[in-house]
Amino acid sequence: MPRWLVRILWALVAVLPAATLLLWWLGSLPEESHPAVGRVVFGNVPQALVAIFYMSSAAFLGAFAWFFAVRARNWARGSSDRRSGRWWRRFGELMRGLSQRSVMERPDSGVMHAMIFYGFVVLFLGTVTLELDHIAPTSLKFLDGRVYQVYSAILDAAALVFLGGLALAAFRRYVQRPWRAASKTRPEDGVVLGVLAAIGLTGLLVEAARITVDGRPDFETWSFVGYQLSAFVPEGAAAGIHQGLWITHLVAFLALLVVIPTTKLRHMFLAPANMALSLRERPKGAMREMPNLLEATDLETVGAARVAEFTWKQLLDTDACTICGRCTSVCPANQTGKPLDPREIILKLGEVAARTGTPAVTPPVGTDAAITIGSDSVFERITAEEIWACTSCRACDEVCPVDIEILDKILDMRRHLTLMKGEFPAELGATFISLENSSNPYSLSQQNRADWTADLDFAVKRLGEPGVTAEYLYWVGCAGSFDDRNRKVTVSTARLLHEARVDFAILGPLELCTGDPARRAGNEYVFQQLALQNIKTLNDLGVTTVITQCPHCFNTLSNEYPAFGGEYRVRHHSEVLMELVKEGRLRPKNGGGPTVTFHDPCYLGRHNDVFAAPRKVLQMVGDVVEMPRNGTNSFCCGAGGARMWMEEPTGKKVNVARAEEAVATGSDVIATGCPFCLVMLDDGVKEIGAAVVVKDLAVLLAERTLD
Ligand code: SF4
Ligand code: SF4
Ligand code: SF4
Repeated sequence: MPRWLVRILWALVAVLPAATLLLWWLGSLPEESHPAVGRVVFGNVPQALVAIFYMSSAAFLGAFAWFFAVRARNWARGSSDRRSGRWWRRFGELMRGLSQRSVMERPDSGVMHAMIFYGFVVLFLGTVTLELDHIAPTSLKFLDGRVYQVYSAILDAAALVFLGGLALAAFRRYVQRPWRAASKTRPEDGVVLGVLAAIGLTGLLVEAARITVDGRPDFETWSFVGYQLSAFVPEGAAAGIHQGLWITHLVAFLALLVVIPTTKLRHMFLAPANMALSLRERPKGAMREMPNLLEATDLETVGAARVAEFTWKQLLDTDACTICGRCTSVCPANQTGKPLDPREIILKLGEVAARTGTPAVTPPVGTDAAITIGSDSVFERITAEEIWACTSCRACDEVCPVDIEILDKILDMRRHLTLMKGEFPAELGATFISLENSSNPYSLSQQNRADWTADLDFAVKRLGEPGVTAEYLYWVGCAGSFDDRNRKVTVSTARLLHEARVDFAILGPLELCTGDPARRAGNEYVFQQLALQNIKTLNDLGVTTVITQCPHCFNTLSNEYPAFGGEYRVRHHSEVLMELVKEGRLRPKNGGGPTVTFHDPCYLGRHNDVFAAPRKVLQMVGDVVEMPRNGTNSFCCGAGGARMWMEEPTGKKVNVARAEEAVATGSDVIATGCPFCLVMLDDGVKEIGAAVVVKDLAVLLAERTLD
């Protein structure tokens, strides 16, 4: 963690109180001013109370900074993670957070949240403005006349927006009670809402009492709420009422300084900061790098289990969480009844980190005090079943309004479970053995990798054979080589490339699994074995550009191999086919095509932002009908994260849930662009007995172009 950040927070423990006392002194220097149209700061407030105000504010601001500083010390327990550079983009992310744009993506809760936030910010800035005017020399004071009136009107409007937002929040949490909120409602939510409401309400009431004390002058009608309320304040008791309310307002403010750092309200500072820090050096589809396990001899542990084995940013994430539950609502595992809840992953890690800190700090959300934490391992609270239920679809990361990285943590924990504890689903054991012994997850002979070429009426070049060169390497992938349903995709892709006169070659038996299933299953050792062999082959053959139909291969080759010395330009077959049609090198028939719905593969879409190319290809072969969940909101097929190689005994099957959604569009064809999605959706459609066909986009294009 950047040390300067921790140092700044510790420095603020002294700087904030000192600055407050300085303001007190500066405020005493100017001559007391009584503007004709304006207000006297601390009017009707005895000097003793003013002194209490400044001294208590100084003490509580120091405590406020201290609470954050000890939390920062807790984040600093994590390992390193470089999050610097690209400052302009970081500033953009910060502004995205501060402007509430990410929160407003879900207007149901976003509007309420934005009302509270903007109302609070305006009220805070109004208080700062008042203090600046207070300490300014008499000649520089500006809060009088029309400026004062406009200022008063803006603050009254902000108070209404703020209180309206709080009322909506209370209604949603305690009356509507949607699952996302109800499942995590704790007593502290009432405290947070109560303290914020107390500040807003007493602010208006103090204003009303002050206006009565001042004799309800006409110019105060601009304080359109306070002026109306002032009519209800009895003149004879106004001075005492004003002082009583003023003290209540001060107490609410001091309470807020404790509530912000010790409850989830801390996200008002940490969420935008977390968003600014979200930009990282590796692509979003790449897992956290690890040392070369084939050479490293001094590694004491692998993956993440203990707090110190997570990065400082992963620990900061837990404090930035707003506990909104959006991640849970899109998680295919959670939505089909598996034990995984991504929000709980964040909260449980945060709980273990908080309760084992020195000193212990409050957990991200109130927890059952009866639950004991015996060590600083997350597996005190998180079970292996939760971790293995993840499909690595990245929907949670995508939807999180504050850019928390949930998937990374799950995959790091898998590394620990697999390599340190040997605790993985039994079926994966067979997959690991296949990958180690056969270099593919099907346990089939590498010598049969190119058998699919027998179905072609032309010869396919093979790199590695004497004198063979090619512009493109066609990386077929294990499914495309060995799985019957996917071999048809491979044949179609090769025929289309041949028809368009693309100069391509394959590797045949030289191609090994990219290692994606091993890596996503936590077996970094097997992944690195396969990756290093593949990279050596590709580099020795001088490969520069790769075409593949497998988004998992696409992701691993383009995003993960560079860290091991393999830099290639990798293209998904949908991107290449789209260009070939655009250039007129492929000419699909016009009209009469089927209606098609497209399932976005997670590793093509969310992990790599390829959304348009497959749709453009499909628009040339038929009419595209979108499913309700498409693009970045697409719902996983259930195969990612090596789930393809695991049983799914709990809950509804993810592929069935997705197949039902696809079938409900009424399309003739369900199209996809991933070998695993093809298998999963085809199985899902068969399981529900629907009369819809599932095809890869290359097969559809070939049918409309070549047959
Ligand atoms: S990556 Fe997908 S399956 Fe895994 S926790 Fe996130 S939403 Fe759930
Ligand atoms: S991780 Fe993100 S999406 Fe999930 S509850 Fe926390 S803030 Fe919300
Ligand atoms: S990542 Fe998947 S499809 Fe690609 S080579 Fe490995 S197993 Fe085959």
